[in-house]
Amino acid sequence: MERILIIEDEEKIARFIELELKYEGYEVEKAFNGRDGLELARTQPFDLILLDIMLPKLNGIEVLRRIRQFSDLPIILLTARDAVVDKVTGLDGGADDYITKPFAIEELLARIRVALRKRENSNMSESSSELGLGPLHLEPLKREVHIYDTLVHLTKREFDLLHYLLENKNIVLSRQTILEQIWGYDFSGGTNAVDVYIRYLRAKIEEPFGLKIIYTVRGVGYVIKDE
Ligand code: CA
Repeated sequence: MERILIIEDEEKIARFIELELKYEGYEVEKAFNGRDGLELARTQPFDLILLDIMLPKLNGIEVLRRIRQFSDLPIILLTARDAVVDKVTGLDGGADDYITKPFAIEELLARIRVALRKRENSNMSESSSELGLGPLHLEPLKREVHIYDTLVHLTKREFDLLHYLLENKNIVLSRQTILEQIWGYDFSGGTNAVDVYIRYLRAKIEEPFGLKIIYTVRGVGYVIKDE
């Protein structure tokens, strides 16, 4: 399921968009000012951001500029009707698209689908490229993991879990997020499944090689870290 972050200080608009997006099956987080939005973008995995330009604490253009320093996530700007300058600045600053308020929700949904599809296409090549961490190498296309020169046999679920953690290297992922990404929303077995599979993974990729790869963040979840 795709996760969308709405950064919009008009709470009524934010809630309205949230409802519509949830109805379409997206998972949604909201921030009502620029600083909180930037913080969420920095600390949680998203697939797309809807970013208002006129925001308290940190304006949208500045939020955009800072997000672009660490992420190439699709960002759609929400702009006021006649703010031509904002649009130009925003697109120059790395926004993927903009939509002028007030907008028809169908139009916003269509633009979101386009931006996500574009990203998916460009990710095809990206997610098929090799991921590594020290002596560990993961090849998505062959679905193989090598540590030093040893091929490690993982089940499909173990492989997907390791792949997801590596793709989000240095980002702490909650059990719930991992569960939704790897097991899917309709899984009813609870977040324990995540702990169980992390244990399986550690037994295969850490213990035999004397490595520390997956870190537990108490009360939150797990992270794979450089170093
Ligand atoms: Ca605003």
